[in-house]
Amino acid sequence: MLAVHQAADGGLARIRVPGGLLSVTQLDVLRSASLDLGDGRLELTSRGNLQIRALRPDGPQELSNRLYGAGLLPSLTHERVRNILVSPLSGLDGRYDVLPLAAAVDRGLCADPALAELPGRFLFALDDGRGDLADSGADVLVQAIDSREALLSVGTHGVRVGWDEVVELMLAVASAFLELREGAEWRVAEVADGATRIFEQLGLQASSELPVTGAPIEAGQHGTALVATVPLGTLTQEQAAVLVEVAEWVRVTPWRSVVLPAVATEPLEAVGLITTPDSVWSGVTACAGRPGCAKALADVRSDAWRIMPGLTRDGRRVHWSGCERRCGKPAGGFVDILAVGNGYLVDGAVPNFPEREQW
Ligand code: SF4
Repeated sequence: MLAVHQAADGGLARIRVPGGLLSVTQLDVLRSASLDLGDGRLELTSRGNLQIRALRPDGPQELSNRLYGAGLLPSLTHERVRNILVSPLSGLDGRYDVLPLAAAVDRGLCADPALAELPGRFLFALDDGRGDLADSGADVLVQAIDSREALLSVGTHGVRVGWDEVVELMLAVASAFLELREGAEWRVAEVADGATRIFEQLGLQASSELPVTGAPIEAGQHGTALVATVPLGTLTQEQAAVLVEVAEWVRVTPWRSVVLPAVATEPLEAVGLITTPDSVWSGVTACAGRPGCAKALADVRSDAWRIMPGLTRDGRRVHWSGCERRCGKPAGGFVDILAVGNGYLVDGAVPNFPEREQW
């Protein structure tokens, strides 16, 4: 059965979506499961996964059955470790299509019993060469170079490899990490000289070549696809239903947005999804906060809804946190809005915003 975390508002189930790709049939299964068994919302995570909150006590078993029926729970033993990010526009706007490789990594992962022991935080990433996943913090990152070669990176070390070796080598990095870790390490970066020792173990001569870095994709039209921002990463019933109605598939991005085949934008905008890059909600994220998290010092999501429209943005990403753990914070730099009990600090300082008296 799906592992469910007990949060302050009930069971919290995370549904792994390797590569972020869902058919609309699968999305509709998740939408109705969230309505019948949880609080009706679907949360998008910083790893391109989905969460259902406030599961009722008998919810986990029923949810597992529904996910299994929809092909979203292919391995009970490996469910926790199927963390595979893919550049969300891969194959849709003229760059390399690395999505099939994610499916191959997923199959290889689930077929190896030893890899079920990977920590749930271990992350695989396949970047199609645009650099949008270069700062994803993946334990093993592959980035397209050309039609023959890709850069395989672990930490700050990289090696050029042929495309036909990529899947096998990504899995080999995971196996080597398991052999090197001494028990408590969750990520390669936590193992002393982890990257160097992994490459030695694989017999590969790594250099300091670094992947190309690019920006997260913005809302709007991209080639044959449309990117829609989901404000605060929470899909409502109404929004999910519209996606199911207008699209054939969706790809969940790690930036609280979804990629769709090019469709008319009006039905999406009518339910609060954002299809242009200039919205105040672009790049804004928040942790669960109150009432979902017992550690939270504020209802950060409600406060974000109230305060964000009144703020001037300078283009940087913004993350609201209910406590210093800063769950779900974006990779790389961001404006840090932190609840401290009697208000918020912004980048460590008392804010000076138009609605300051409300903070
Ligand atoms: S950052 Fe703190 S308040 Fe927010 S979800 Fe994480 S533990 Fe809870």
